[in-house]
Amino acid sequence: MKVAHNFNAGPCVLPKPVIESTIEALRNFDNTGVGVLEISHRTPGWERIMTETEQLWRDLLNISDDYAVILSGGGASTQFYHAAANLLKTKASYVETGLWAKKAAKEAKTFGEVVIAASSEDKNYSYIPKGYTIPKDADYLHITTNNTIYGTELHIDIDSPIPLVADMSSDIMSRPIDVNKYALIYGGAQKNVGPAGVAFVIVRKDLLGKTGRTLPTMVDYRTYIDNDPKNNSMYNTPPVISIFVMHETLQWIKKMGGVEAMHRLNLEKSTLLYNEIDRNKLFVGTANKEDRSIMNVCFVMNEAYKDKEVEFLEFATAQGMVGIKGHRSVGGFRASIYNACPLESVKALVACMQEFEKKVG
Ligand SMILES: *Cc1c(COP(=O)(O)O)cnc(C)c1O
Repeated sequence: MKVAHNFNAGPCVLPKPVIESTIEALRNFDNTGVGVLEISHRTPGWERIMTETEQLWRDLLNISDDYAVILSGGGASTQFYHAAANLLKTKASYVETGLWAKKAAKEAKTFGEVVIAASSEDKNYSYIPKGYTIPKDADYLHITTNNTIYGTELHIDIDSPIPLVADMSSDIMSRPIDVNKYALIYGGAQKNVGPAGVAFVIVRKDLLGKTGRTLPTMVDYRTYIDNDPKNNSMYNTPPVISIFVMHETLQWIKKMGGVEAMHRLNLEKSTLLYNEIDRNKLFVGTANKEDRSIMNVCFVMNEAYKDKEVEFLEFATAQGMVGIKGHRSVGGFRASIYNACPLESVKALVACMQEFEKKVG
C-alpha cells in the first residue's frame, strides 16, 4: 500500500488498530458470526458497547456523576442549536474565535439574544481574545477551545462566573481538562474520537429543563438520559458504526496512557513542527505564538517565497504528505496532527520542509 502521512483536518487519521478491529467487527461482532451493522442495538453485545463507551469517557476525563455523557447523531453543527435550545433562556454570550464559533452564535439567535463577549475577527482569528468581560446576566458563555481552521487554541480551562459551554470538537482528549469547570462540552467525533456521524455531549444534569421551552424530543438532552443506564443515548437507534469506532478509539487512548500521554505526544509533535516553521526561512506561522494549537498547525510561505506555494504543495504530496493544504480562509498550509497522527508523520513533514528549503536554495 502507498505510504501516506495523513494530516487531514477532519475526518482524519484514526489509529491503525482501530481500523483493524472495526473491519473485524463488520465481519463478526462479539463472536456472534454476524457483523456489527447487522444486529439490533438492543442486543446485550451492543448494550455493552454503549455502557463501555460511556465509562471510557468518564474514566478518561474524570467525569463525575453530576454530568451525563450523551452520544447523539449528527455532528457539532447539530449541537450548535441543541446546546442553545437546552440552555438558553433569554440571553447567551459567545466568544467569536472563528468560523465555527460564529456559526454556533448564529444558531443560538433562534432561541434568544446573543452578545459577543469578544472577537478576534479583526486579525482573521489568529489569536485568542483575553481579558474580556463576561456578562453576568447571560445564561452561559460559549467558547471554542480549538479553532481548527486558524490553528489557535485555548490552553487552559478558564474560570467563568456563568455556566461555561465549550465546543471541543477538535481538541477533546488531546489534553487533561477539568470537566467541573464546564456546564456543557460538546463536539463532533470526527477529529479526535472517531468518525463522523456522532456528537459527544457532556452536560451537567441539574442545568437541564430550566428554559421553560418545550423542545422536540430529539433536541431535548433529557431524552438521551435514561434511568436505566443501558438505555442512555438509545431512545432511538444510535449511529452504531460511529459509536463502535469511538469505543475502539477511546480504548486505544486508554491503552496508550490516557489524555496525559496524548498531551505529551501532542506537545512533542507540535513543538517539532513549530520549531521547524520558525527555523525554516521559507515558512512563517499564522497563529499568535502563545495561542498556537497543538492540533492544527497553520503556516504560509514567507513573503519572499510566496511564488513557491504550489511547488511546495506538489513536492510534499509527492513525498506522501496528505491533506496539508490550508483552509481557504487562511491559505497556505495546515497540518492537523490529532492524537492518532504518529510522530513519524510529523518527522516526515519536517524532513520534507528541510529538503524543500535546500532545493529552493
Ligand atoms: C469540525 C468542527 C465543527 C463542525 O463539525 P460537524 O460535526 O461537521 O458539524 C465545529 N466546531 C469545530 C471546532 C470543528 O473543528
